[in-house]
Amino acid sequence: MSAVAAGGPRVAVVGAGWAGLAAACEAVRRGAALTLYEASAQAGGRARSLVWRQGPRPLTVDNGQHLLVGAYRETLALIECLGGRPEALFTRLPLSLARTDGVSLRAARLPAPWHLALGLLGARGLPWRARFDSARLLASLRRSGWVTDPGLTVEQLLDRCRQGEPARELLWRPLCVSALNTRSFEASARVFAAVVRDTLGARAADSDFLVPAVPLSELLPGLTLPFLARHGAEVRLRTAVRALARTPRGLQLATADGYRAFDAVVLAVPPPRAAALIGSLTREARDPTRTRSGERPACPGFSFDYRPITTVYLRWPGRPHRLPALVMLPTEPRRGWHGQWLFGHRLADGGSLAAVVISADGPHRRLGRSELAQACVAQLRANLGLPDAEATLVLDEKRATFACTPELRRPPLDMLAGREPGLWLAGDYVDSEYPATLEAAVRSGLAAGARAAAA
Ligand SMILES: Cc1cc2nc3c(=O)[nH]c(=O)nc-3n(C[C@H](O)[C@H](O)[C@H](O)COP(=O)(O)OP(=O)(O)OC[C@H]3O[C@@H](n4cnc5c(N)ncnc54)[C@H](O)[C@@H]3O)c2cc1C
Repeated sequence: MSAVAAGGPRVAVVGAGWAGLAAACEAVRRGAALTLYEASAQAGGRARSLVWRQGPRPLTVDNGQHLLVGAYRETLALIECLGGRPEALFTRLPLSLARTDGVSLRAARLPAPWHLALGLLGARGLPWRARFDSARLLASLRRSGWVTDPGLTVEQLLDRCRQGEPARELLWRPLCVSALNTRSFEASARVFAAVVRDTLGARAADSDFLVPAVPLSELLPGLTLPFLARHGAEVRLRTAVRALARTPRGLQLATADGYRAFDAVVLAVPPPRAAALIGSLTREARDPTRTRSGERPACPGFSFDYRPITTVYLRWPGRPHRLPALVMLPTEPRRGWHGQWLFGHRLADGGSLAAVVISADGPHRRLGRSELAQACVAQLRANLGLPDAEATLVLDEKRATFACTPELRRPPLDMLAGREPGLWLAGDYVDSEYPATLEAAVRSGLAAGARAAAA
């Protein structure tokens, strides 16, 4: 990696989520003199860790269980470039859609498409009709170059490809909700097809699941901050950027402790904040006395419909239980079974930790936290014979991702290029073929960081 070039452009990255971290790394790699601003006390944004204090000793968990796939090329390349070893940081599992009721499909260790063809042939408990249907859908997507009509929902795509109920229920709907965090009846078929292309339709290794084996904060945040420090960049945590202004010295950022001008700025904050900051800039142009943000400016393209993700952690301190690394749970809201996926972790104290993930909206949102935790305890008892957990923690991220629907319009990275030179957007919401994911965030960050460094 190159060091910061003396006299390189002054670049500010606002927001230290994974998009902002990627932008900061890229700008530094290209010789920029970088300052990274983050409103909260830690980097990571929506993919960060926290300390769970209940129980015999504090435990670091993530603000929501995350799963990466082998197709996250840019994220994995960046981690490696920063000195991280993916084989030590992740548990790599071959694509597996195993359910607790015995239905299971596991990709074979063969080149594509044989990994999946053999996986479908050898699947357990999957009706033959579902295997033929799945193969038909994949063949049809491949024939169309993995592109679908932009107005189509996933459910309409499944209709067009004559998918029976078992294939929908056992494969496509769970895949859709976990990849797009949007239910199949409203999810974009085009984005779903891109995800299927890069996982099921690509190299066997691309479809691998990568479960973080360390807290999320030790992944990109933990690798980036020391890298930035080594290269002389300035990282300002607990420093929210409040407004932007264009001055003869460049783009000026206002924070609680003053003003500072830069040659280029990457806005890697969530869309409403980005809109407010861009609005503060245009207001400033009209009336230089107004530098406060907070008013909701008219800035089209930044309004999203969000979907939640709930993670319920169950902990058995000092007690090893045979937890599967990753298994799909049968969901039956009428029986109180809301959990969709279970991730099993072994703890350093010999105990066990289960992360039960519930994506998107659903009847679980009508339950209180302790009611939902008890429902998950009962679901795991019924499905895996697990004893009651000794401690539970419910983390509900209401704005985990935007709804990935056919109507969705995402602002392009260079949306501001003509109007506001030197100002770039980064974030999982920026136009991409991918849904709101770490990979979308990192890709946009790398692209924005490169352009900002060229200022
Ligand atoms: C529970 C949960 C589970 C998920 N599971 C997965 C998964 O399995 N796989 C996957 O790929 N993705 C998953 N995601 C999505 C993934 O976490 C996000 O796509 C990604 O983290 C978005 O990163 P970002 O940098 O675009 O935005 P953010 O993470 O939202 O970062 C924005 C940053 O800007 C900061 N900020 C805001 N305002 C200011 C300001 N004025 N000044 C300075 N800083 C500011 C914020 O504090 C924040 O740190 C999940 C998300 C959640 C919440």
